[in-house]
Amino acid sequence: MLQADTYKEKGARKLLVQELKEKGISDEKVLNAIGSVPRHQFIHKDFKHLAYLDKAFPIGEGQTISQPYTVAYQTQLLQVEPANKVLEIGTGSGYQAAILVAMGANLTSIERQNKLFVKTQKLFKALQIEANLILGDGSIGYALNAPYDRIIVTAGAPKIPDALIGQLIVGGIMIIPVGDNNQQTMHILIKKPDGSMENIQLDQFRFVPLIGTQAW
Ligand code: SAH
Repeated sequence: MLQADTYKEKGARKLLVQELKEKGISDEKVLNAIGSVPRHQFIHKDFKHLAYLDKAFPIGEGQTISQPYTVAYQTQLLQVEPANKVLEIGTGSGYQAAILVAMGANLTSIERQNKLFVKTQKLFKALQIEANLILGDGSIGYALNAPYDRIIVTAGAPKIPDALIGQLIVGGIMIIPVGDNNQQTMHILIKKPDGSMENIQLDQFRFVPLIGTQAW
């Protein structure tokens, strides 16, 4: 299943990092993680030769591996510190998860589709990536490992799920795209000491839908 990480891949990753810098990603820790995670391992064999283009690709089950720019954008907003407890909703290919682990996160990532969950679990074993991969509905969070310093949602939500707010520490940050089926606005939510949320809205994106109890 694994394809060696050759000089060709390393070179292609450097060019991708350069491209992301030009598109406005400036956080060195994020750029280093993009430069170190072998994206070609997370992509179907038909698209492997295109792995370092700034593009999304199908990963099966009607889902996609997010575009590197989107991964870098969300990760930059998340401001992950080493040893932060991070919850990701929407494991998918595991690429975003691998970036978070590369940045030192203590990661729990949840996926609702069994096939993707099993596939990514195998891949993480092969690549020796340490994370708690969970099968389930992430729209209600994952109470067993809560509370979290950071929460990142990688599917488009119709609204901010209350359960996720409840599982975030005071001072914690949640990054979530919220909108309709066509377009979502990236939201940064910061939990204030009184439990209320500061809410900053940024650029527009298009994600696959978040499906679940507190979702579509
Ligand atoms: N972070 C992924 C992006 C995958 S696309 C990557 O880097 O590849 C979003 C994923 O969210 C899909 O795999 C989809 O099945 C999953 N998803 C949608 N709703 C979900 C929910 N309620 N709980 C967990 N996963 C969900």
